[in-house]
Amino acid sequence: MSDRPVVRGAVVDDMTRCVHYRSAVDIVAIRFACCGEYYPCHLCHAEAAGHAARQWGVGERGEKAVLCGACGTELTIAAYLVATGCPACGSAFNPGCALHAPLYFEVDP
Ligand SMILES: [Zn+2]
Ligand SMILES: [Zn+2]
Ligand SMILES: [Zn+2]
Repeated sequence: MSDRPVVRGAVVDDMTRCVHYRSAVDIVAIRFACCGEYYPCHLCHAEAAGHAARQWGVGERGEKAVLCGACGTELTIAAYLVATGCPACGSAFNPGCALHAPLYFEVDP
């Protein structure tokens, strides 16, 4: 587990849940395009990063920018956007996160 990326912000457990989102399925962290750091959510970034968040562009979907907090696997943006769970460990992802995807990733108009 020592090679897992560091997740910053108000993390409350070792599956990247945070003070804002901590239900059973809130197990992913997002790497932000602006600073390259992982945070559990956009609110954690807003509180801790000290700068405005930048979304990943549509042309950057091949970047590994999503961390499964259950097993530590990093997913590409493209893989995450079509996944309902982690392809490596099978943990379910929060379906509500899709509503927040535009906070992290530019979406096709
Ligand atoms: Zn940032
Ligand atoms: Zn948070
Ligand atoms: Zn996983």
